[in-house]
Parts: sequence; C-alpha cells; structure tokens
Amino acid sequence: MTELSRLPGPVMDLWEWQYQGACRDIDDTLFFHPEGERGAARRRRAEAAKAICQSCPVMMECREQSLAVREPYGVWGGLSEDERSAILANSARSTTRKVG
Ligand code: SF4
Repeated sequence: MTELSRLPGPVMDLWEWQYQGACRDIDDTLFFHPEGERGAARRRRAEAAKAICQSCPVMMECREQSLAVREPYGVWGGLSEDERSAILANSARSTTRKVG
C-alpha cells in the first residue's frame, strides 16, 4: 500500500512536474498490470511502459517520488515494481550496515 505519510505537502512546486509526464495522455493500463497477468505478457507490457518513461522529461522526479512513497504497483520513473523493491531493499541494507 502507498504510504501517504511520505508524500510531500500540497505545495504546487513539488507536484507541477506531473503535468509534464510523457504518460499523461496514455492509457494507464500500460503502466499497471491487470489481474493475473504473468510471464512474457507482463514483461512486454512493462517494457513498453518503461520505454515511454525513457523519453519522459520528468523521469527522475517521478522515480524519486515513487521510491519515497514506496509505490507498490506499476511502472514509475522507468522502474518496475520489482526494480523499486530491489532498490529499497538495498537501501535498507546499506542503512542497517551503517547503523550496525
Ligand atoms: S517517468 Fe514514466 S510514469 Fe513517470 S511521469 Fe514519466 S512517463 Fe509517466
């Protein structure tokens, strides 16, 4: 589940980048897997979504926000759910090593 407490406040400057997203006028079913989608079909859909992200002028902003709020589903900032999970897990391990 998305952690809303991690979202930045309602300051327009923090959100305006979303108006520039390359996916704005694209069917969002390309970015979110339908129930039961698996294997090659899921990989192809995600790769098509990620290709759009690669041409997006706000990819880094989108990626940073999706990681900050731990978006659980979909392609955001050119990253799939699994890729974001791996980044967050690595980040958590690094933090644990520094503390421990
Ligand atoms: S990076 Fe991808 S998901 Fe994010 S706004 Fe751009 S096209 Fe949309």
